[in-house]
Parts: sequence; C-alpha cells; structure tokens
Amino acid sequence: MTTRSFTPSRLEKFERLLLAEEAEANERLAEHRIGISEVRAARSDASADDEHDPEGPTMTQEWSQRSAVLTDAEHELADVRRALGRLTDGSYGVCESCGRAITVARLEARPTATLCIDCARRIG
Ligand SMILES: [Zn+2]
Repeated sequence: MTTRSFTPSRLEKFERLLLAEEAEANERLAEHRIGISEVRAARSDASADDEHDPEGPTMTQEWSQRSAVLTDAEHELADVRRALGRLTDGSYGVCESCGRAITVARLEARPTATLCIDCARRIG
C-alpha cells in the first residue's frame, strides 16, 4: 500500500492546472524568443551604422529585460515539468524537505510547490 495522499480526481485537477501553466509558459517563451530576435536584428543594425548610436544603451536595457523574462519563463517551465514528473511517479504533493503532505490549498495556489508551507517559511 502506498501513502499517496490525493485521490485520482484530485491528481487530475492538479495535472490540468500544471498543463495550463506549461502551455502559458510555452506561449510566453515563444513570444519572447520572437521579441529577442527582433532586438538582436535591430541592435546589429545600429552597431553597423554607428558605434556611438544614442539608442545603444536603450537597446541593451531592453535586451537584458527581455532576457530576464525569458529566463523566468524557462525556470517556470522546468518547475512545471518536474511537477508533472512527480505526478507520474506518485511523489507529487509530498514535501521534499520533511516528507509530509503539502496542503491542497497551497498546491491549488502554487501547483509547482515542492515544500510544505512550514518548510517554505523555514527555508525561505
Ligand atoms: Zn515540509
């Protein structure tokens, strides 16, 4: 007998939440990848024209902003995929630190949570 803490219908609900989050993160990634290649193209034009282009710093700023968003979305996607893996192997909803069940309310708010609320507060 396993100590699986969720009913199959509950797990299905979390799977749907995670898949929705995965789709959303993928969409964001796709959008920003397009954005980044536009910035890259514009930036190489600018530097070809004139090294002292007044728009230079602005372009760099936009570039790093976009990179940050992209990195966020990539991390989110990795989290979602790990959570989906835990759904498959039956460890979903179990705190990685103390091994106790993560509350449903917490998982509903944050389906990728790997720590119970107590450990999350303790670890930070
Ligand atoms: Zn815990």
